[in-house]
Amino acid sequence: GLSAESYRRRHEISVTGDNVPSPFMSFEDTGFPSELLREVHNAGFSAPTPIQAQSWPIALQGRDIVAIAKTGSGKTLGYLVPGFMHLKRSRNNSQMGPTVLVLSPTRELATQIQDEAVKFGRSSRISCTCLYGGAPKGPQLRDLDRGADVVVATPGRLNDILEMRRVSLSQVSYLVLDEADRMLDMGFEPQIRKIVKEVPTRRQTLMYTATWPKEVRKIAADLLVNPVQVNIGKVDE
Ligand code: ADP
Ligand code: MG
Repeated sequence: GLSAESYRRRHEISVTGDNVPSPFMSFEDTGFPSELLREVHNAGFSAPTPIQAQSWPIALQGRDIVAIAKTGSGKTLGYLVPGFMHLKRSRNNSQMGPTVLVLSPTRELATQIQDEAVKFGRSSRISCTCLYGGAPKGPQLRDLDRGADVVVATPGRLNDILEMRRVSLSQVSYLVLDEADRMLDMGFEPQIRKIVKEVPTRRQTLMYTATWPKEVRKIAADLLVNPVQVNIGKVDE
């Protein structure tokens, strides 16, 4: 088979960090449970995308990650699948609050993430709730009350619900900031920082971004601990 080095070269993957594990070049390399591999097969996927191949083994080690990759590269499953594995190990009671929290800039993107989480998490009995603005709070609060392992949220709506004390983030141990550059462009930095204050510091944090400007580097430096950085292709600053 291909060596890790030649796979990375071929797919323009560069990594920064100590002892970065080799990419999972095929689904057989992942060791994922059979119910999950079945979903991936049913979706018609033939191999992990480069960002998945490289970020999965890092995330499964429990390490923080900054991943820089353009739109359409498969980042959603890049963080959701290790989140599912994390849930299997942690076995929290979802009534106490979510274990996995994904922050996303817009209602549209949050909904897409939720759809992917439902589709790929169903066979592993993972429950997921989506919180976003521009819609009544009632149904979202009722969904939360039923208990959710995974919450996908826009920062504004999650803050509103936190202020109402209708959700606790005290069980969150896997935090994802998706499209971090866009969230900062949209002015969500204060809300993100308020949310992260409610998440225990003993956690795994993953940040996904299409670009790597200094504002994103600053928040990464503040919220992540000794992250492994994974870049796919050329990095825009
Ligand atoms: P990004 O977040 O990087 O923009 P997405 O996670 O939205 O990308 O993925 C883009 C599309 O690729 C989605 O339709 C997703 O279902 C699909 N996809 C994800 N992983 C794979 C894979 N391993 N093989 C083929 N398609 C995939
Ligand atoms: Mg995405």
